[in-house]
Amino acid sequence: MRQTALFTKTRKNAPSDEVSKNAQLLIRAGFIHKEMAGVYSYLPLGRKVLERIEGIVREEMNALGGQEIRMATLHPSELWKQTGAWDSVDVIFKIQSRTEKEYTVGQSEEEVVTPIGKEYITSYKDLPLVVYQIGQKYRDELRAKSGIMRGREFSMKDMYSFHATQEDFDRFYTLAKDAYLRVYTRCGLVAKATEASGGSFTQKLSYEFMVLTDAGEDDILYCDTCSFCVNAEISAQKEKDACTRCSKGNLSRAKASEVGNIFDLGKKYAQDFSLTFKDKEGKEQHPIMGCFGIGITRLMGVTAEALSDERGLVWPKSIAPFQVHLVSLGGKEQVVKEAERLYALFSERGVDTLYDDRDLRAGEKFIDSDLIGIPLRVVVSEKTLEQKKYEIVVRATGERCMFSEEELLQKVL
Ligand code: ATP
Ligand code: MG
Repeated sequence: MRQTALFTKTRKNAPSDEVSKNAQLLIRAGFIHKEMAGVYSYLPLGRKVLERIEGIVREEMNALGGQEIRMATLHPSELWKQTGAWDSVDVIFKIQSRTEKEYTVGQSEEEVVTPIGKEYITSYKDLPLVVYQIGQKYRDELRAKSGIMRGREFSMKDMYSFHATQEDFDRFYTLAKDAYLRVYTRCGLVAKATEASGGSFTQKLSYEFMVLTDAGEDDILYCDTCSFCVNAEISAQKEKDACTRCSKGNLSRAKASEVGNIFDLGKKYAQDFSLTFKDKEGKEQHPIMGCFGIGITRLMGVTAEALSDERGLVWPKSIAPFQVHLVSLGGKEQVVKEAERLYALFSERGVDTLYDDRDLRAGEKFIDSDLIGIPLRVVVSEKTLEQKKYEIVVRATGERCMFSEEELLQKVL
C-alpha cells in the first residue's frame, strides 16, 4: 500500500486522558481511534494486525477440530436468567427495549452455545463437539485504563467443547493447552500457563495464559527452573519460596497480563438447559463442557506494551501490519523510479509492503517508520543507488546493512 493513500497519519500526541502506553503508541501511530474509555475503533493498520492474530488463532483452533461459527451478539434476557447469570454476573450490560423487553450483549456465550448444542447432540456419537467464534464482546468493566488491554468492547476468540466423559474432556484440555501455547509463541510472545481458580461454579483449577509485562493487572509467581506458574491470588506461597513442584528452583513474582483462559465447565450449563445425550448403554447423560477464551485485542495491546521501545511499536513478523516498509528518500527521478520498481516487484512476489512515497524529509519518514514498527525497512536513496544496493534496517534490533537486490529478495520472501 502507498502511504500517500493511507488515510491515517501519525500524530505527536495521544489524547491527554489516555494513560496506557499501548493505546498512546497505537493512537499516535494511527492503528486505533479512541471513542471513549475502553472503546476503540480499529483503523487500517490496526485492523490488519487483528486479522493476522485472528489468522493464527483460527489455524490452531481448526487444527484442534474446532468448527467456526458466529453466534448472535444480542441475547434475550431469558437465556441469562435460566443460568442465573442475569443477576450474578456484574459485568453484563442490560438493555431495555421500547417494547419493554430486556436484552444483553455477549460477554461470553455459554447461554447461546448450549441451546445450539442441544439442537444437534442426541447421542454419544455426536460427541465431542467443538465450536468457536471470533468477535466483539461487551463488558461493563469498572476500570478501563489499560487501553486495548481492558476494553468495555473488545474482541475475543471463544471456543466451547462438549464431551461424553471426563476422560475425553481431559484429553482435549491437554491438547487445547498446547495449542494455546503455540498461538502465543507464533504471535512472538512468551506466555506462561498459570494455575488459577476455576471460577464460581467449580472447585477445579483452570489455566490462565500470562505474558509478563508491568502493564499487566495480575500478579503471578513462577519457578525459575521448571514451568510451574501460579496466580498469586490463589497461592499460599510467596516470592523467593522454594518451588514445591520441582523442589529445585525458587519462585519469583511478576506483573502479567492474562491473554487466555481455559475452563472445565462441568455439567453446569448442560443441566441448566436440560441438554442430554444417550451414552453407549442408552442412558441419558449430561455432557461435560469446556470454555476456552483468547483475548484478541488484548494480545495486540500486550504486544504493543511488551515489545515496543522509546521510538515506537515493534511488531513481530507474524502479526505485523506489513512485512516491509519501503522508504524512498528525496524526489530525484532515478530514486523514485527505482523505489517504484521495487514496490511493483514486492507486490508481484506477495511481500506485503507499505511504500512511503510521501514528499517528506528523511528524518520525518524515519520517525514515522520507527513509530509504526514494521519489522523491516528498505531504504532507496541516491546513496544506495550509487552503490547499486539497498539499505535494510531491522526495526527490533536497529541492525543495518547494505543488500544487493538478490540478497534483499532472499531476506523478504
Ligand atoms: P480478566 O481477569 O482480565 O478480567 P477474565 O477472567 O474476565 O479476564 P475471560 O472471561 O476468561 O477473562 O475471557 C477470556 C479472555 O478474554 C481473557 O483471558 C482476556 O485475554 C480477554 N479479556 C477479558 N476481559 C477483557 C477486556 N475487558 N478487554 C480485553 N480483553 C479481555
Ligand atoms: Mg474480567
